[in-house]
Parts: sequence; C-alpha cells; structure tokens
Amino acid sequence: MRERLAALRARIDAAATAAGRRPEAVELLAVSKGHPASAIREAHALGLTSFGESYAGEALPKTAELRDSGAQWVYLGPVQSNKTRLLAENFSWVLGLCSLKAARRLDAQRPDDLPPLQVCVQVNADGDPAKAGLAPDQLDPFLESVQDLRRLTVRGLMTIPRKAVPAAPVTGPPAFEVLAELFAKQVAAGHRWDTLSMGMSGDFEAAIAAGSTQVRLGTALFGPRPAKPGTGTGTGTDTGTPGVDAHHD
Ligand SMILES: *Cc1c(COP(=O)(O)O)cnc(C)c1O
Repeated sequence: MRERLAALRARIDAAATAAGRRPEAVELLAVSKGHPASAIREAHALGLTSFGESYAGEALPKTAELRDSGAQWVYLGPVQSNKTRLLAENFSWVLGLCSLKAARRLDAQRPDDLPPLQVCVQVNADGDPAKAGLAPDQLDPFLESVQDLRRLTVRGLMTIPRKAVPAAPVTGPPAFEVLAELFAKQVAAGHRWDTLSMGMSGDFEAAIAAGSTQVRLGTALFGPRPAKPGTGTGTGTDTGTPGVDAHHD
C-alpha cells in the first residue's frame, strides 16, 4: 500500500501542478468501504486520516475498532432516513446529502457533544437517471432550506459523473465543469465553502484539472473491493443510487 499511496500522491500532485494549483489543495479521501479494519489501520499508519464508507452496517464495527486512532469517518452515498441516527452519531462528514428530510433528521439526531456534522450536497451534474443528487436548479432552494439547521455545516458540493459507455457516449457539458461552476457561483454568493468533492480512481486527474479539492480513492489505493456477501453485485452501489426516500420531500 505504501507504494500505491506514493504513486497516487505523485499523480495527484502532478495533476494539480499541471492545472496551476497547489498540490496541498487536493485532499485524498481513502474510500475503505468493502475493506477490513486491518487495511484501514495500514492506511492510517501511512498518514491517511479520513476514511469513506458507504454502508452504515459495515462501517460501524470498523469505527468501533479504530475508535482510538483519531480517524475521521466520511459517509458516502445516499442517506436513507432509517440510517440517519447511525450516521449522526458515528460520522464526522456526510457526502451526498440531497434530501431535506434526511437533512432535518441528521440535524435533530446529531449529538450535542459532537461538533456539527460536516456535509457536502450531492449534485447530479449531468442529469444521470441512475444517480442521486439535486438537479443544479434545485441547489439554491435546498441550501435555503438547510441554512437554519444548526447541527449541520455545509462545506461544499460533491458529484459522481455518468460513466461513459461506448454504446451511449456522454454528451452535454462534463459533470466536473458543471459542478466547479456551481461551486464558484455559491462561493461568490457568500458561502464559505472549501470542499469540492469529485474524482474517483478512474477519473481523479480530470477532476483535479476542473478544480476538485477532494478526490475519493478506493480501488486505486486499497485494490479491488471483495464481493459483498449476499448481494451478488460485487461492490454494491458505487453509483449513489437514490435511497427509498431520496426524492420524496
Ligand atoms: C465507492 C466510491 C468511491 C471510490 O470509488 P473507486 O472507484 O474505488 O475509487 C468514491 N466515491 C463514492 C461516492 C463511492 O461510492
């Protein structure tokens, strides 16, 4: 893992430099979903401190096992209402908020003795029907609705772009550029945001070129995810597929 991490950090730094950005401006979020606590310990020993998980049930034993490490837990993916308490009590960040109902529950359930939950709003920047996220024109009203939730702090935006398939090439403006533009607009409008979360193992250099401040790397760092028992789908949802209540606000 040490070599993989060094190679990734070198690619991140090179992509940032090529884009005229400071390498320190791009954070590496280690996406540990599907990998055991031992792998997280190894990554932590190499200096990584933030770990991304997509399934509360899988994550909780790991957060318990690494309780004393100081690791920060980042929840990735759609927030289902029946999971908000687990997230509010055990995670520092939620990336992928796009439901007002979930936002209200997270706010109400965030324990008083913890700092506010840090969130990024998920935007479906290229209109992918397979993904969760707000349409760009839903962002302003959503931000207005969550601004009074004192136990949540919005830090920025995240997106997962449509995968290009040869039979149906992606058309329209690229998701990374759309998201970067939305981010810049919100910052210009006065939001003190610092997190533009975009880029995964297969596309992080393009995301950095577009302005990403956080790349979310799973496979490239930890290797392939083992199949999840019982699902038959291997890695589970990588797509941010809407949860049962994601669009019922
Ligand atoms: C799983 C996941 C990742 C990591 O994907 P890799 O391709 O393995 O790097 C990043 N972001 C989200 C939202 C994910 O669900």
